[in-house]
Amino acid sequence: MTINWHDKAAAVQADGRAFINGERVWAKSGQQFENLSPIDGRKLGMVARCDGTDVDAAVAAARAAFEDRRWAGKSPAQRKRVLIKFADLMQKYGQELALLETLDMGKPIKYSQTVDVGGAANCIRWYGEAIDKIYDEIAPTPANSLALITREPVGVVAAIVPWNYPMLMASWKIAPALAAGNSVILKPSEKSPLTALRLAEIALEAGIPPGVFNVLPGYGAEAGSALALHMDVDCIGFTGSTRVGKQIMQMAGQSNLKRAWTELGGKSANIVCADCPDLDAAVESAIGSIFFNQGESCNAPSRLFVEASIKERFMEKALAMVPAFEPGDPLDENTIMGAIVDATQLKTVLGYIESGHADGAKLLAGGKQARTGTGGFYIEPTLFDQVDSSMTIAREEIFGPVLSVLSFSDVREAVRQANATSYGLHAAVWTSDMSKAIQTARALRAGTVHVNQYDSDDITVPFGGYKQSGNGRDKSLHAFDKYTELKTTWIQIG
Ligand code: NAD
Repeated sequence: MTINWHDKAAAVQADGRAFINGERVWAKSGQQFENLSPIDGRKLGMVARCDGTDVDAAVAAARAAFEDRRWAGKSPAQRKRVLIKFADLMQKYGQELALLETLDMGKPIKYSQTVDVGGAANCIRWYGEAIDKIYDEIAPTPANSLALITREPVGVVAAIVPWNYPMLMASWKIAPALAAGNSVILKPSEKSPLTALRLAEIALEAGIPPGVFNVLPGYGAEAGSALALHMDVDCIGFTGSTRVGKQIMQMAGQSNLKRAWTELGGKSANIVCADCPDLDAAVESAIGSIFFNQGESCNAPSRLFVEASIKERFMEKALAMVPAFEPGDPLDENTIMGAIVDATQLKTVLGYIESGHADGAKLLAGGKQARTGTGGFYIEPTLFDQVDSSMTIAREEIFGPVLSVLSFSDVREAVRQANATSYGLHAAVWTSDMSKAIQTARALRAGTVHVNQYDSDDITVPFGGYKQSGNGRDKSLHAFDKYTELKTTWIQIG
């Protein structure tokens, strides 16, 4: 059955109030800000502009919930049941959540339903399923003693997330943190707060007790920094830009030395060698991955290195694919590239396109704003050729639908250039030579390296970066390390 998303969108009543201690509330100051849809600029509603006072209230609620053990004191099997219900309810309200996500940040409704709602619900379910399968340890100590190594929740966890995958990024933090028994305060981006707020209501409906999961919308410099500086927050999980990530580490250090985990930006390199086993697959993956989510993905393969001898053939195929990614109406199920999140980001991306021209790169496709009559923010899928590693478009994260193409004739040189950036999130190499593939994968300084593919992703594997792409890992069982303390208990037995 075809869904008329426009009819549904017209009926949406966005609730921008914060969620503290199980209740929807406005900021104590009464301050609000407007929430506009990037699809057409229409006003979705007002959002609570939380500040330090609201942060104090949310931290007090989270601390009280942690201390009286209303969640941490439940057995892993009990928490599991609640988290699985939470995931089930997310799927029950899936259409509503997908619509809010698309209206709020402009991604195609086709992907909001699958990647965002589907991925976030799967994440909550997976950590729920995992938590009662983790055993504590006994150390091999001398016979007259017993040393238990156990994991305990850290306490009050703050999660600060960006706008590009609002629900998914939130779920990567809240799922392991809640499963481990922590109390959580989530601060969504001011650009896309709606699904995080709705998630808090759904969590309460699933049985997560009041005070355990709080959501504070607001600006980074107000609500975000108050959380990072708070003396009673035990741990902060941050996903966002490298610039703000550095500030988070400083604030954590200058306050109570809270545990601080950062998942930051990227400038990922995709290296296609002449002996690539399937050129069509490599082209499809390079183009599909850079334009997915309008290029607003931390792991977008934004630097494409193609071996000189196959470059002409590769580019011919690549250019033929580009028109399919012309931005369309995000509420149309056939659209695969939607709107840029807001006017500021649109300006930033257009600025990078200008710098590509100024630095002498050759524009092969796109380069302009699109759908200008809609009142929304759209950019054509853009390809620059003849880029070299010194150009701004090859060094800085653009976070938009812009691909920079470079060429090489020796894979070692491609690796050197791939690594010559402050980032280290993802990378890929395409070759039929397994030794070359393994040597290249080992040499690439990135948290994830793909061989003969780019798109694989799964909740079971860690996701995070080397260098200035961050210091933590989301997803997989390793994420529990971020939200638990290891305790050693010595017991005298004879
Ligand atoms: P951003 O750093 O501007 O903001 C991220 C969050 O931090 C927002 O909630 C914002 O309000 C908050 N914030 C801003 N200033 C703050 C401050 N001074 N103190 C505390 N909080 C503050 O990033 P963005 O523009 O929302 O997101 C895009 C960035 O996120 C890109 O660099 C992208 O690569 C990165 N990202 C990384 C990953 C990953 O897993 N590595 C995933 C998604 C996005």
